[in-house]
Amino acid sequence: MTTRNDMVLIAGGGPVGMSTALALALKGIPVTVLEAAATFADDPRASSIHPATLDLLEPLGLEEEIMALGHRVSTWQFWDRVEGPVVKLHLDELEGLTNHPFRIQLEQHVLCGLILKRLQALGAEVRFETRVTGVSQDDNRVQVEVETPTGSETLTGAYLVAADGGRSTIRKALDIPFEGYSLSELFVVVTTLHDFSRYGYEDACHFADPDEWATLFRVPNGKDRPFWRISMPVLPGIPREEAARFDVCADRLRILLDEGDSVEILHSNLYGVHQRVAARFREGRILLAGDAAHVNGPTGALGMNFGIQDAIFLADQLARVYETGADAALDRYDRQRRTLAEAILQTQPQRIKQRLETREPEERRRRNEALRQMGADPARRLEFLKEQCMLNSVQEALAIA
Ligand SMILES: Cc1cc2nc3c(=O)[nH]c(=O)nc-3n(C[C@H](O)[C@H](O)[C@H](O)COP(=O)(O)OP(=O)(O)OC[C@H]3O[C@@H](n4cnc5c(N)ncnc54)[C@H](O)[C@@H]3O)c2cc1C
Repeated sequence: MTTRNDMVLIAGGGPVGMSTALALALKGIPVTVLEAAATFADDPRASSIHPATLDLLEPLGLEEEIMALGHRVSTWQFWDRVEGPVVKLHLDELEGLTNHPFRIQLEQHVLCGLILKRLQALGAEVRFETRVTGVSQDDNRVQVEVETPTGSETLTGAYLVAADGGRSTIRKALDIPFEGYSLSELFVVVTTLHDFSRYGYEDACHFADPDEWATLFRVPNGKDRPFWRISMPVLPGIPREEAARFDVCADRLRILLDEGDSVEILHSNLYGVHQRVAARFREGRILLAGDAAHVNGPTGALGMNFGIQDAIFLADQLARVYETGADAALDRYDRQRRTLAEAILQTQPQRIKQRLETREPEERRRRNEALRQMGADPARRLEFLKEQCMLNSVQEALAIA
């Protein structure tokens, strides 16, 4: 039953669409998720959930399963290729400022699976193989054209959340500009069972080098040996069609290993980096959230986190509309999230990347010294952690009227 005049339709069953659906369903608002694919895509993407996002997810009732299935990471380490380990930060210093003074590593498709079970238990519909192809709206309702294995349908609802990813069909159909830029560089992300902790790398680690910088994360793998996931830029001169080849990636990882060691790669993929924010997050009864509204580079692990934060803020504002009948709250959603996306997502990933790839030896030495000084100064250390763990950004969004 997908046609109901008070229904919120949600296009996209990624982490953002699914979180929005659950947050709304728990408030008693009828929701239906329309997902183009037959299942949740399980290619390696987001796996880091920051303290601020864990706080916002807590009321959704998934805490026990997230903690049981996720890997808890309490440290964050910065390495330099020449100098070795530079500084190690401890997230438990955030105790008292968050209910979760740690980061959880959990793959985004696993999180979506947990949310699906909760939604089904609440009687909400999640329709797979249902691709949104067109939208229209008037003052009272929104209509969505979908294609399914049995043909096309038109669905009606009160609002539509476009959480249909970076290439959003809905954003394009509404002709909303996606402002920003794309980098010409490519990045490769590899997954391996090789244990990087044996070299002293912590479970979340940034490794700085002008050409061969990398980010390393330990990711849970059910009951089996954990995965290590490493993202790194493709080296100049490596053709695109060779960059994700397992032997090329294994060779590329050698700088992280002891001499003579080698790595077996289980998975690799290439991705481009785009820094873009939609010019509007609201168009009448249609709201953009997650990658449909903003995309950013992977350094800092911000994309899914920021998107889930959109979901929770949007569900709060939609609930206000359902309570009061006045839809001005949706303009607040646009102000809160777009302002922050422009301020944070457009700058922080590039700042981190620049720190990782500093080339000038003297500047690099200064960068490492600054990191050490920050690590030795409790007030600066705490401020850095609050920013990187997104506690500041949630407070800043709440402060926007
Ligand atoms: C390698 C890599 C590592 C990353 N690591 C992190 C990290 O550690 N932390 C972090 O916060 N972020 C990370 N990100 C970013 C993160 O993956 C994205 O920000 C996140 O997936 C956005 O979620 P979403 O639900 O908005 O979009 P998506 O996950 O893209 O989901 C969109 C959904 O919409 C569906 N869809 C598309 N079109 C239609 C349509 N027309 N009709 C119906 N359904 C449709 C798609 O099938 C998909 O299921 C990473 C990204 C990459 C590439």
